[in-house]
Amino acid sequence: MTPGLPPAGRPIGDLLSDVARMRQDDLPVRGGKVTAYVYDTGRPEVHEAAARAYAEMLEVNCLDPTAFPSIVEMERQVVGAVAAELGGGHGIFTSGGTESIMLAVKAARDSRPVAGRPALVAPVTAHPAFHKAAHYLGLDVVRTPVDPGTFRADPAAVAAAITRDTVLVVASAPSYPQGVLDPVAEIAAAAAARGVPCHVDACVGGWLLPWLREAGAEVPPFDLSVSGVTSLSCDLHKFGYAPKGASVVLFRDPAMRRRAYYASAAWPGYTVINATVQSSRSAGPLGGAWATLQALGREGYLRLGRDTLAAARLLREGVAGIPGLRVLGDPVSSLVAIAGSDEVDVFVLSDEARKRGWFLQPQLSYAGIPANIHITVTGATLAGVDAMLKVIAESAAAARERGPATPPPGLVELVAGLDLDALDDAAFGELAASVGVNLTGGGQPEMAVVNAILDALDPETRESILIRFLSTIYA
Ligand SMILES: *Cc1c(COP(=O)(O)O)cnc(C)c1O
Repeated sequence: MTPGLPPAGRPIGDLLSDVARMRQDDLPVRGGKVTAYVYDTGRPEVHEAAARAYAEMLEVNCLDPTAFPSIVEMERQVVGAVAAELGGGHGIFTSGGTESIMLAVKAARDSRPVAGRPALVAPVTAHPAFHKAAHYLGLDVVRTPVDPGTFRADPAAVAAAITRDTVLVVASAPSYPQGVLDPVAEIAAAAAARGVPCHVDACVGGWLLPWLREAGAEVPPFDLSVSGVTSLSCDLHKFGYAPKGASVVLFRDPAMRRRAYYASAAWPGYTVINATVQSSRSAGPLGGAWATLQALGREGYLRLGRDTLAAARLLREGVAGIPGLRVLGDPVSSLVAIAGSDEVDVFVLSDEARKRGWFLQPQLSYAGIPANIHITVTGATLAGVDAMLKVIAESAAAARERGPATPPPGLVELVAGLDLDALDDAAFGELAASVGVNLTGGGQPEMAVVNAILDALDPETRESILIRFLSTIYA
């Protein structure tokens, strides 16, 4: 298929067969063998309801709520459901965790004028969305350490990092990398003592922890009911099981929510008043999220929560019995990070699992935390947890057999010393090909050597390499 427009329009049947062809190497979005990126309820009728409502709302534009009152009613119901579970507040429906966090950071910056460059304080395990928001919005990020054994943020370090220029303090419930809950109450109290807002990033946990708690897990308070917490983000496109493009950011104070909004009358065109970063925006994701909440209901989420809790326990216990592997920390949520050892390289393990039809997400080492594989356990995991453990055990044995992924001698030094600005995308692509990475082909690539190279580089070099990687893929 050559790029560009076809000379004449094509029938839908042709288009759909093209879509199917383009998707043939994609990871499957249902069935529980992909343990990141996708969230399957195991109940096709729920996803069908979401898809139908999504399609109904697809062409409605959230740009003007007076033109399409359906979006106001739907958003009130979705945001209201989230607020009712998570300590109240006044919310905005957004496209995802990153946008929710962007708006929380903007609201904090604009609520609290400071003399110097505004800064936010975030534990090293906080999601990169905070760094991205700071980058876009002109803030500094002050990183604080986590406990090396529990991976939870250190509240004393957070308190000590607050200065006159701090506009926001961050806690995660849970943090994604190890699935552990930061000490939200202590961090929020330290922020409040200095008059600084505190955001709880419950992007992944906000729509999971309430159900795990109801199913019997020990979940300390983490939401807007905690004194000192001023805003919270909760993604519905994760454990809400809604189609992608669905998150909610809640503010305790409506005045702070207004600081997230943006209006412009500085042109002769239509009036611009936006609650989100996007302006023209499909109401499809809102319809999909609304329908998912309605199709599952309390009972549905509680059942998924029970199954998730049971599956996460079985997974942790099972991994404890596999030589050379160990679970990092004591995750209260159902995110499980599994570290390897000198004998079992987790990057090789991940490739081995991929050969067996499973995707286990590799995570690079950072701030003294070892490389690991990350498994997001969902409600649909329970039915396949034995198969998952079998694949992990087989892949670990194969990784032991193969030994650690080792980049060709001198390559890490070569990459670390590259003058990337002097290299065009074609030359970068050739370099990648020389280590066996085909950046222009499809398929499911072997990633162990790439991950081993990235893992050996410092984070700044990793970032420049990743940007070149993307630019070369889209060359
Ligand atoms: C997923 C996630 C985010 C970012 O969300 P996106 O929807 O991918 O933009 C932020 N924080 C945490 C803890 C997350 O798990």
